[in-house]
Amino acid sequence: MNTITPDQMTKASHATGARNWRQETHGSGITWLWLDCEGTGTNVISEAVLRELDMILDRMTQDLPKALVIRSAKTKDFAAGADIDGFASLQREDTLDLLSQGHAVLDKMSGLAFPTIAVIDGAALGGGFELALAYDHRIGVEGASVGFPEIQLGLHPGLGGTFRLTSLIDPVQAMKLMLTGKTAHTEKAKSLGIFDAVVPDRHIDSAVLAAAHGDMQPHRSGLKAAAFTTRPARSLAGNKMRSESEKRAPRKHYPAPFALIDLWENHGGDTKKMQDAEIASFATLLESATAQNLIRIFFLRRDLKKASRGDANIRHVHVIGAGTMGAEIAAWCALKGKPVTLQDVDLKPLGEAVQTAQKVFEARHLSEIEARDAHDRMMPDPSGLGVARADLIIEAAPEHPELKEQIYAGLKTSLKRDAILATNTSSLQLETLAASAPVANRFAGLHFFNPASKMMLVEVVSHKGTDPEVTDRLASFVEGIGKLAVEVNDYPGFLVNRILTPYLMEAMVLLDEGNSKEEIDHAALDFGMPMGPLTLADQIGLDVCLHVGDSLRANLAKPMPEAPEWLLDKVRAGETGKKANKGIYDWSDGTPNSENESLKISEDMIDRLILPMCDAAVECLRMGVVQDRDTVDAAMILGTGWAPFRGGPMHYAHIRGETEIRDRLNTLAKRFGDRFSPDAGWKDFT
Ligand code: NAD
Repeated sequence: MNTITPDQMTKASHATGARNWRQETHGSGITWLWLDCEGTGTNVISEAVLRELDMILDRMTQDLPKALVIRSAKTKDFAAGADIDGFASLQREDTLDLLSQGHAVLDKMSGLAFPTIAVIDGAALGGGFELALAYDHRIGVEGASVGFPEIQLGLHPGLGGTFRLTSLIDPVQAMKLMLTGKTAHTEKAKSLGIFDAVVPDRHIDSAVLAAAHGDMQPHRSGLKAAAFTTRPARSLAGNKMRSESEKRAPRKHYPAPFALIDLWENHGGDTKKMQDAEIASFATLLESATAQNLIRIFFLRRDLKKASRGDANIRHVHVIGAGTMGAEIAAWCALKGKPVTLQDVDLKPLGEAVQTAQKVFEARHLSEIEARDAHDRMMPDPSGLGVARADLIIEAAPEHPELKEQIYAGLKTSLKRDAILATNTSSLQLETLAASAPVANRFAGLHFFNPASKMMLVEVVSHKGTDPEVTDRLASFVEGIGKLAVEVNDYPGFLVNRILTPYLMEAMVLLDEGNSKEEIDHAALDFGMPMGPLTLADQIGLDVCLHVGDSLRANLAKPMPEAPEWLLDKVRAGETGKKANKGIYDWSDGTPNSENESLKISEDMIDRLILPMCDAAVECLRMGVVQDRDTVDAAMILGTGWAPFRGGPMHYAHIRGETEIRDRLNTLAKRFGDRFSPDAGWKDFT
């Protein structure tokens, strides 16, 4: 991360007429430009940033420096990307204008007659990475990373990234980076040839001098790039990319990867043509429903982050239960800097939790020292000594009310005065558990999803007696450990499982009716779900699904599909899904083995799977489980991967129309039963 001293920053005053750039020229004749976006802790590449840069560059062409260095003045990260607020709702002509102006500035930059050097500290993403690509050299500071996340917004790079990266490095690797939206961390970025050098913070100045004096070789694209200057070579590679992209996300739902492949295949050998085509293609994608819905989700996610209030005042976390959930929750909290004690009745899971933590730290690219420190923060605590020190106790013990009640009873005398007790239960009513909590108003739910280290969403669940201050602290805590908090009220299944369970149970009924498992999963995939319901059920565990289904059936007014007899038999026989290598699918090689039959799409099947989720969401709104429709959409997409390009179940219902959905539900109710009867809340859904 940046270690810019206040002294350095006072020397670098705002460039004349600029609010987002600071400029200083050293005795060596090298000019440093610090990107310091006004009024925010994160740099974004906005129209103003580029306009001011243009002005600064014009002045420089009259008074040439020896070299120009660009660096971020923020304490972390080079730049987060382009200013999405600035272009999300533009009309096509305005988008084209804006992009053309941006390209002209970066072209000016890349054509300067003196060496230009980007020093990248932290992340350079999207537009920030494109800015850096317009420089002669890129010096990565240890820990730096680069990437193009545009594809996740239904777009591709639009500020020259498509042709600059494909001509800088092996174009197939460049395309892979853009098509997957993945980030290349320091060493990877160096080996790809994106960074000419990687240095520790203290060696930045000497690396800059070497680059300025021509002693640092800029990366050359070499033979690999030359091999793709012909159209047939690009077509061959492009077809392979298309089939891989189709597997990840089908063209009919996600057009951006295919537009990007077309762009490279058609114009890869010709920078100017590719530039013009990039601008036009970006403007077309921006208008698509997919991009608009994905951008909306980006905003919803940002709003969720902003929503947490005040200081969590939670330092020490104590986790009870070191199983599937507890181990990952503890590891994640330790990774995020919290001292954590982890308690279990059994020593074996405590030992396994240390290995789980190591895997979590590795997946998050922690250095050896960082991982060691995180391990030091996570303390196995078989006797539960950490309870007395904890500001937050997260109970992740098995889903048995009596056991949980017994655990709570044991906490009564040792809990700190302001400590919060939160349960990770997925199906038990908080109101009932609260009766045995040491202090009912400091008891709530913190519902992490599985795997807790990967899933961003956490439901912060209040029961009627939860003190609002406790909810606020928990939401801030969730935000503080880098997750997204959705505040919900106590309800069977809370929000996400209430909505998802009818989908899983209806899939079981469809299977029971004789449809093939592949056909059912295919219907959901065709709609745009990331995984078919039967594959998902196997992954969750059929025992868990059965349990959640039973619990919801017992506690909801609305009928829930009955679990078929074969499902009970499977669970009794231990065929509980992926974890048992066998469930609805055979998972013996780690993937769901399915028959390759030609699959027809049935609209009925899709509606039977999807509409009950929309209906359950409307019920949750009517029952005050969640505040608004946007939160439902954000929770379902971020928590379950619900067809992101459709904008979530409430946005989908809005687009399809309330009357049409109600009519359809009524028809399905006549044919298949009351479980499809539209909720009373639809009348308020306009
Ligand atoms: P698990 O069975 O994997 O782990 C539970 C752990 O608790 C075990 O290691 C067990 O030894 C320990 N334990 C049992 N009694 C204890 C006691 N008295 N004191 C301390 N530890 C004790 O269970 P899990 O899947 O991690 O689920 C834990 C909770 O999280 C449940 O409430 C479950 O509903 C919820 N949850 C699970 C998932 C999931 O997919 N597994 C997802 C979300 C929420």
